[in-house]
Amino acid sequence: MPLLLAQHKLVMPEQNEFRAVIDLTHNLNDRSPNWEGTEDSPYQAKELGNLERDGYYSRVFATQEHYGTHLDAPAHFAAGAWTVDQIPAEHLVRPLVIVDMRQQVKHDPDYAMTVEDIAAWEDAHGVIPSGAVVMAYTGWDERWNSQKSFRNEQADHLTHYPGFSLAAAKFLVNLRQAVGLGIDTMSVDVGATETYPVHVFTSRENVYHLENVANLALVPPAGATVVVAPTKLEGGSGAPARILALVK
Ligand SMILES: [Zn+2]
Repeated sequence: MPLLLAQHKLVMPEQNEFRAVIDLTHNLNDRSPNWEGTEDSPYQAKELGNLERDGYYSRVFATQEHYGTHLDAPAHFAAGAWTVDQIPAEHLVRPLVIVDMRQQVKHDPDYAMTVEDIAAWEDAHGVIPSGAVVMAYTGWDERWNSQKSFRNEQADHLTHYPGFSLAAAKFLVNLRQAVGLGIDTMSVDVGATETYPVHVFTSRENVYHLENVANLALVPPAGATVVVAPTKLEGGSGAPARILALVK
């Protein structure tokens, strides 16, 4: 008995390494902004099983791969690059770096993250850990409930929202070995582009994107771990993803 008690004490150390788990995911529904800006949602869910009728509840759903909080696989923009199912699992659990661009975006909705923004983050928090997922926190998810405001299409027929500059993406991938870039807008490229330079560059490097991310305000800029869990769609160019931040 005394031995058992002693053993019990030994397994008592704190089991949970994390103080909080923050959900960086919007609900997947038919009310989210869509890429084309159409009134009809690209997402539908239809009831199959009904509890009263069948004794169980179930649905069938359909969605675009790039809708709601989702992952862009490198195959989205590069032939022969990884599809969703081919991204190694070890690329999906990584240190999470959050670069706060809200001040810059306040004055310029077309703002693209600069290398100087990254340098400022490193001045405050140290060198970005190698192999991290780096997210731009622009504050744009405050607009999530309005497709018009979230897409922010202007008279030039282009959408206007912030993103990463190609220089910043190159710095993060080439010099900090980032495995993924994330943002709380619809695209890691700024809205007003027709050439998607960040997508083209990162896809060739087998770097994935996380788009329409939520709740970045709740995560510290450094020290968290991200868990990226896309639906493992075989051959997928992208997929809805559950994204969690584990905060120490
Ligand atoms: Zn996408």
